[in-house]
Amino acid sequence: MDSSADVVVIGGAAIGSAAACALSDNPDFDGRIVVLEKDRSYAQAASSLSTSGVRQQFSSAVNVELSKYTVAFLDEADLHLGTDGDPSGVVFHQNGYLYLGGPASVDAFEQNNRLQRSLGVDVRLLTKAELGRRFPWLTLEDVEIGSFVGRGEGWLDGYVFMSAFKKRARANGVEYRYVEAVELIRDDGRVTGVRCADGTRILAPHVINAAGASGRDIARMAGLDLPVVNVKQTVYAFESPFACPEMPYTFDPDRLFFRPEGGSYIAGLGIMDHEEMKDREIDHGLFEEEVWPRLAFRISGFENARLRSAWVGHYDMSVFDHNAFIGPVPGLAGFYLANGFSGHGLMHAPGIGRALSELVLYGEYRTLDLSELSMARIAAGTPIRENIQY
Ligand SMILES: Cc1cc2nc3c(=O)[nH]c(=O)nc-3n(C[C@H](O)[C@H](O)[C@H](O)COP(=O)(O)OP(=O)(O)OC[C@H]3O[C@@H](n4cnc5c(N)ncnc54)[C@H](O)[C@@H]3O)c2cc1C
Repeated sequence: MDSSADVVVIGGAAIGSAAACALSDNPDFDGRIVVLEKDRSYAQAASSLSTSGVRQQFSSAVNVELSKYTVAFLDEADLHLGTDGDPSGVVFHQNGYLYLGGPASVDAFEQNNRLQRSLGVDVRLLTKAELGRRFPWLTLEDVEIGSFVGRGEGWLDGYVFMSAFKKRARANGVEYRYVEAVELIRDDGRVTGVRCADGTRILAPHVINAAGASGRDIARMAGLDLPVVNVKQTVYAFESPFACPEMPYTFDPDRLFFRPEGGSYIAGLGIMDHEEMKDREIDHGLFEEEVWPRLAFRISGFENARLRSAWVGHYDMSVFDHNAFIGPVPGLAGFYLANGFSGHGLMHAPGIGRALSELVLYGEYRTLDLSELSMARIAAGTPIRENIQY
């Protein structure tokens, strides 16, 4: 059976729901939006499994601007995400983000700092002595420099954030259908709709690909081979009697990341390789052999850390330059990409959603210019290099 809509969004997690929310919030739009979501539980969505950090410390201006948009959005979360007078439920824990670097990182840290400060980010470089005074629980023998933002960086709950977008979108009249999109319907260089696994078709002039780790498969339906692989990130939750007051979301020079979570902590290793991962097995050996030794070295009080649980999430990594592909697709009018977020999609959902809504509605960016993130940079050979990862 056929039905019609003005916009179909494939994938109803953080990015898809942020786009649906921004579009349905816009008084200039009065059309019908259908979000297709294949997994009602969101159990495997990256948005549910994310460590949900929010940082402005990027080394490319476009990502800094996206993060600044998020911080301003979160400052008024209830205005943007509340429904019918109810608060959004989104809590932004602004404990900050701390990057630690060895001697070889000093130049990069200084360069990033100049860019971030020129864009208005309140970021500070800290010497070893300053780090020691501020974070006395850190071992700093191999550390030369730190980069720290306090207020304006930290973390939230990804599931709550995603759900707030979704709730607001639904309250605005967006329809969520729990079915898999299996085919893009195309006609003469245009997308004209989507066919679903139950055999139904939704005819629409605009289709947004917000399918997360399946985004590459949706792009393939449009004849595109996106340079994106799905990487596996394991997160370990542990307890320790040792308290680290005001611990920020911390990145070690040796790929380790850790932060508080409720009354305990989470940690993992930043992804360095580009290996396509399909399994969701928890690697307990990785904790024993790689994560725990790094934790115990960096914070000696974590010697007695006790692993409580762990989980695995997949996310879409751009092997071209570790940055997202956003926007229209040459040769297929009406089809928009929002893929390859490379581990920073959750924090950028507000600006990405807004930008996609403007592309659909006005055919151009009006708030944040994300044209740099278009897939045209592949053919142009102009990657957006990030020297701050994870
Ligand atoms: C362990 C981990 C840690 C992370 N840490 C951070 C972090 O600190 N900060 C940060 O900003 N980001 C982080 N990320 C990345 C971030 O979570 C993702 O970039 C973001 O959630 C992507 O949102 P999304 O909506 O694009 O994808 P997803 O949340 O994966 O959602 C995609 C949705 O599309 C649906 N779907 C797929 N195919 C179809 C189809 N054919 N039809 C219908 N529905 C479909 C899926 O069921 C899913 O619900 C992390 C990710 C992981 C896994």
